[in-house]
Amino acid sequence: MNRFKNPYDYLKYFGVTDPKDICLDILSKGCDATVQYRMLTGCEGYIVGVKDSATIFVSNAVSISRQRFCIGHELGHWMLDRGTPRFSCKAEDIGGHKIFQKGVEARANRYAADLLMPEFLFKPAAVDMEMSFNSVRKLAKLFQTSIMATAIRLTRFGSFPAIFAWYDAKNGSRISCVRWPEVPSFIWPHEQLHHETYAMEVLCGKSTDSGGPKRIDASYWFDTRNAYDHDVYEHSIKGYGDLVLSMIWWKDESMLDELS
Ligand SMILES: [Zn+2]
Repeated sequence: MNRFKNPYDYLKYFGVTDPKDICLDILSKGCDATVQYRMLTGCEGYIVGVKDSATIFVSNAVSISRQRFCIGHELGHWMLDRGTPRFSCKAEDIGGHKIFQKGVEARANRYAADLLMPEFLFKPAAVDMEMSFNSVRKLAKLFQTSIMATAIRLTRFGSFPAIFAWYDAKNGSRISCVRWPEVPSFIWPHEQLHHETYAMEVLCGKSTDSGGPKRIDASYWFDTRNAYDHDVYEHSIKGYGDLVLSMIWWKDESMLDELS
C-alpha cells in the first residue's frame, strides 16, 4: 500500500508528465482509495478509511473542478492524517483560498493544490503568460481547477510580479491576498476597494468581468510612497459566491524596484 506524504512523489511514482495525466479516479486507486460520487448533505466530501483502504465520497452537485479539489483534499487527509477513521469536510473547509491557514483542513487544501497543479507542470504552462484572468481561465481549463485556486497558483508561479486579492462583494472590504514571491510583503492592496477601480465596477454590478488587464493609477490600489508616480494593470471579475477577484500586475517593475 502506497502512502505519499509529498504529492510530487505521488505524481512522479505514477509517471505523471502532463496535466491531463492527473486523473484522480486512477491515482486514488493507486493508494487504495476509491472515489464515489453521490448526493451529499451537509458536506461536499468525506473519506472513510478502514485499515489500509479508504472510500472517498464526493458531492455530485458541484462542478468538476470543485469535485477534483474535494478529491485532492480528501486524498490529503488519507496521506497525511492516517489513523483518523473519518473526515467529513464542509464546503468552507475545502478551498484554494484557505491553503495559507493552519490546521488539518488547510494542510489538506495545500495537498490538493500541489496534487492538481504541481509546480513542475504549472510553471512551464504559465511561463510568460500575462498576469490576468485570461491566463487563469486557460490554465484552469488545462488543469481542470477552479478560478480561485488557479489564480493563487498563477500568482505564486507566474513569470511576472502581481498580487491577487479578493474582496467581499457586499461591502468592498479586502478578505485576503497572495503575492508573487518577490513582491515585498509590506505591499498590501487597500483594505477597502477604491471607487475608481475596475473592481468597484464589478462590485456595483456594471459587469462581471472588467475585460482584461487595464492600466490604472497605482495609488487606487496601494499606498506606498511612490504609488502616485506609477501605473499598474488591473483585471477584476466576479468570483464564486460573494467575492470580487482582482489581479494587479506590474508590467513595469520600476515601482517595485524603487521600494526594494
Ligand atoms: Zn477536510
